[in-house]
Amino acid sequence: MPIQVTVWNENVHEQEREAVAELYPDGIHGAIADFLGAFDEFSVRTATLQDPEHGLTESVLAETDVLVWWSHAANDAVADEVADRVVDRVHGGMGFIALHSGKNSKPFSRLMGTTCNIKFRHAGERERVWVTDPGHPIADGLPDHFEIPQTEMYGEPFDIPEPDRTVFVSWFEGGEVFRSGVCFRRGRGRLFAFRPGHELYPIFEQDEVQRVVANAVRWGAPNEGAVAEWGESDPLESIGE
Ligand code: ZN
Repeated sequence: MPIQVTVWNENVHEQEREAVAELYPDGIHGAIADFLGAFDEFSVRTATLQDPEHGLTESVLAETDVLVWWSHAANDAVADEVADRVVDRVHGGMGFIALHSGKNSKPFSRLMGTTCNIKFRHAGERERVWVTDPGHPIADGLPDHFEIPQTEMYGEPFDIPEPDRTVFVSWFEGGEVFRSGVCFRRGRGRLFAFRPGHELYPIFEQDEVQRVVANAVRWGAPNEGAVAEWGESDPLESIGE
């Protein structure tokens, strides 16, 4: 069975800025779905903010193994009800891959329980992404570092809980550093936040970036897991005899 992937995008910059529409004529979601769709192991659909229930209905989420989420300008426009639904599905085992400002989305920040605040700067500067966990499945097939020629800067401190693993750390031309690839577990679900992906540059056309996203989808896919029993419990043995 292929991994069922839903690529979600707020799809706002593409409507409002000509430069973004030219770079991503099918939307950022379309570009991501395109390179993920080249793998037989993935079955990919897309959804956007503008769809009814943002395209994330109960049935879509029930069929989604991994949700890839790009957002930036419209994080607050996501309905609380939909955000709660996504959070519930993550607890139930759905993988969640937050791209770029997806770290500030309602579902991701609720799952973190922190502000996810950062520094940022729009100067079109160079980013060097270092692999800090070379044995991690999300780093599979990468060199020890790669560069993004032009990007928006994100700088530390990044207000997140201590990650389970930090797979990437970025250095920026202006001097800042940032934890660019961080892993978490919440309930049965696996979460990965990946920093690159600013809409004004062709970042999702880069081989290394595509590889990271594909690796993250594979890593984020749920397994069957074990049965969990909660609540008051009868003893398995006689107690106190
Ligand atoms: Zn940006």
